[in-house]
Amino acid sequence: MAALSGQTALVTGGSSGIGAAVAQALAQAGAAVGINYAGRKDKADEIAAEIRTRGGKALLLKADVSSEKSVLAMFDKFIAEFGRLDILVANAGLQQDANITDMTLAQWRKVLDVNLTGTFLCARAAIRQFLRQGGSPISKATGKIICMSSVHQRIPWAGHCNYAASKGGMMLLMQSLAQEMAGKKIRINSLAPGAIRTPINKQEWSSPRKKKDLLKLIPYGRIGEPADVANAALWLASDESDYVTGATLFIDGGMALYPGFRGHG
Ligand code: BGC
Repeated sequence: MAALSGQTALVTGGSSGIGAAVAQALAQAGAAVGINYAGRKDKADEIAAEIRTRGGKALLLKADVSSEKSVLAMFDKFIAEFGRLDILVANAGLQQDANITDMTLAQWRKVLDVNLTGTFLCARAAIRQFLRQGGSPISKATGKIICMSSVHQRIPWAGHCNYAASKGGMMLLMQSLAQEMAGKKIRINSLAPGAIRTPINKQEWSSPRKKKDLLKLIPYGRIGEPADVANAALWLASDESDYVTGATLFIDGGMALYPGFRGHG
């Protein structure tokens, strides 16, 4: 039997990049998947169609994760369709880069609203649902949440202070929730991807010169693929990781290992 047979999963920002790969991997492992998207319905349709072609179940959910009303409506629709929730992957995130002297309050707010407040709103809705359901008949845990953090929960990032602050905040949000909910058998963990080949950082890997610079920051010597992160998400969502909560798994080819010190500093 597939690892997630009979379970249901909601993936925010599931229409592209890492979120799309995670949605596909969870569906492949037998979960019925809700694919949340903010704007690109065409992309979300594509991912849902691929999942259905392989015999999986997919539900499209348009919602702005930074809006409380929109998040509540999304969870209602998910439960109306699938009846229960086993896994939340709080993946929706964005960048709006600017040096501090140029960063507008709107840029600061947008990134904190989507990346951090969006994770809070979705995690809160998922936890309320897990508690309403009580124990799970199909998984050891009552519920599982995976937050999509970043190496920038640890690595400061000039020119991206809003993004780094959102991920640093996510680290303690995740750990505090994990501590609060462990007694209820709800497991909450984060993935911290490094440079993964997705639209968010296309500028950094699409030109040979930039790619060469980027590779200097990755001891393992290659850019990550969305599937590298999706495989880890699958493990965190499954009973294979049943004793893991409050952890952050870095999926970064060593980017967070201070690569500048490789030559003995
Ligand atoms: C960012 C990417 C960046 C990577 C490594 C990610 O969290 O979204 O743009 O390439 O961190 O710096």
